[in-house]
Amino acid sequence: MKHIARKRFGQNFLQDPQIVADIVGAVNPPRDGQVVEIGPGLGALTVPLMARVDHLHVVEIDRDLIARLKKQYPKDKLTIHEGDALEFDFGQLGPNLQIVGNLPYNISTPLLFHLASFAPMVRDMHFMLQKEVVERMVALPGESEYSRLSVMLQYRFYMDWLLDVPPESFDPAPKVDSAVVRLIPRPQEELTAKDPALLEKVVQAAFSQRRKMLRNTLKELGGEAWLEAHGIKPTARAEDVPVADYIALANSLVKPEN
Ligand code: SAM
Repeated sequence: MKHIARKRFGQNFLQDPQIVADIVGAVNPPRDGQVVEIGPGLGALTVPLMARVDHLHVVEIDRDLIARLKKQYPKDKLTIHEGDALEFDFGQLGPNLQIVGNLPYNISTPLLFHLASFAPMVRDMHFMLQKEVVERMVALPGESEYSRLSVMLQYRFYMDWLLDVPPESFDPAPKVDSAVVRLIPRPQEELTAKDPALLEKVVQAAFSQRRKMLRNTLKELGGEAWLEAHGIKPTARAEDVPVADYIALANSLVKPEN
């Protein structure tokens, strides 16, 4: 029976065999690799991934698609985690985990924030996303796409834009262009936030009103002297500040342990 794509689950199924081959080639998992796919759908990436590894994990929310997958593939080859990827504990599958997915675009930003927290358990991640989201992920200070997402991902990952994917590569075709991006965790000793929640707080406050000066958006956290002590002009805006400076600001707020 034909599956009718569900908009609320961001279902746009990949049709282009060359794009599928490019993604699976980029992931290039070892046979005994620990790989999890988010949103297997009708199996465009699942089937070629299963051919490359001894065992594959998938996380899927749509009960109809789960029933299909269960019918088609044996349990010893495929473990299906039924439920919401936004709540899934990817850490339980690590370490050295490879996470792959043609992600549901309607939840891609919160999903990326959720996934970022598992960086220490991850070997790499490869995602198909809305091109505009990938632009925000890799944007540099001073660029208009530089945002909270850029800082919170760049602090944990190196990112490579791998390929552009046009709407016609999917069925149904999304209204937007897509791109595939690779994320590789940075070594722990680089850019370490002593308290990630504090970093999140500083970045969130700075970008809450991105056109406002930091002396206003960050005034609850510290004064102008605090900004200047970190080489940041109090009149600067969120989009002017490099990732390392956000980390330095956040680290300076950590109270020393007695
Ligand atoms: N991988 C397939 C492909 O490339 O053709 C499907 C990709 S489709 C863009 C997104 C997939 O994610 C669908 O299978 C959808 O049901 C699933 N999905 C949507 N929201 C989800 C969620 N919160 N948790 C887990 N899976 C979800």
